[in-house]
Amino acid sequence: MKQRLLTACAVVSALLCCAAPAHAEWVRRVTDGIMGTRITVELWAEDQAKGNQAIDAVLDEMRHIDETMSTYKPTSEVSLVNAKAADGPMHISKELFDLLTTARQYSEITDGAFDITYASVGYMYDFRKHVRPDEAQIASALPAVNFRHVLLDPKNQTVQFSQKGVRIDLGGIAKGYSVDCGIDVLKGLGYTRAYVGAGGDSRIIGDRFGKPWIVGIRDPMKGEGNVIARIPLVDAAISTSGDYERFFEEKGVRYHHIIDPHTGHSASKVRSATVIGPYATRTDGLSKTAFVLGPDKAMEIYNRLDDIDAIIVKLDGTVVYSKGMQKAPPSGKQ
Ligand code: ADP
Ligand code: MG
Repeated sequence: MKQRLLTACAVVSALLCCAAPAHAEWVRRVTDGIMGTRITVELWAEDQAKGNQAIDAVLDEMRHIDETMSTYKPTSEVSLVNAKAADGPMHISKELFDLLTTARQYSEITDGAFDITYASVGYMYDFRKHVRPDEAQIASALPAVNFRHVLLDPKNQTVQFSQKGVRIDLGGIAKGYSVDCGIDVLKGLGYTRAYVGAGGDSRIIGDRFGKPWIVGIRDPMKGEGNVIARIPLVDAAISTSGDYERFFEEKGVRYHHIIDPHTGHSASKVRSATVIGPYATRTDGLSKTAFVLGPDKAMEIYNRLDDIDAIIVKLDGTVVYSKGMQKAPPSGKQ
């Protein structure tokens, strides 16, 4: 009897061993300073040293994206485009060309709420230093805000601005894109269970051995650490935009980092918007929409997109869910 029990245990441990080798473990790292945000990478590694090398590769990829896309870096490819693209067609890297093409699609999907040329006005805001443009400055810069001013020629892989004064900024999409690139790096190295997060944008591959990953959505009315919902996710991306991220207040008005392309002012029609979908580039690009268009119009757009779900916190604090989430409410919802 004892012998049989031992044999059974041996079988069970052999099975466990195949599912999760004894030396395998979760490897996690949190890094500050790339893209001005906090990067978190967690993965299931057969070997801790190899897991750490994989995380290094993800962070290298993110640094490369920051070097190419940041408008804070005068030598970045995007800064060069801003300096020269009004003078004529400019040849750019395939990576940037593809991302500009994706950005244009999001502008079309969102009726222009997502618009990288917001920066034509947006560059005059400095939320850390409490600086904002006055009405006259906004009025004179606003005609340059329109995604249609960015002319893309796929044959020659060039970009051109149709008029002077146009500036682009990929801050509304670059973090999500870097998360997707990080996930691609891990997939290429054979990882099948991992989390990559950059600020409010995250993506997950695989599960946690039969359990989903749980991502908390911050309560925009309360401080950090308070959540309105915990979302169980497997093989999905999630992005949250909030008016609490980068802002200052003046005479009771909150000036924050999402700009309405139609007015040049902060877009303040919701407190936060969370978008869930297959790719972080897409969820990042779409999470700004609710601030510009308001909860009803934005939900209409989210509900129209088969691969997208959304959770919006309205100005009065009520929470609304997209159709897909109403059918199967998140199990961890509080
Ligand atoms: P985070 O930068 O923390 O990921 P969000 O995902 O909410 O925050 O993106 C906010 C950023 O999006 C802003 O800092 C700015 O760079 C960019 N942005 C602001 N307004 C728009 C807009 N209307 N369309 C596209 N991008 C925008
Ligand atoms: Mg984002």
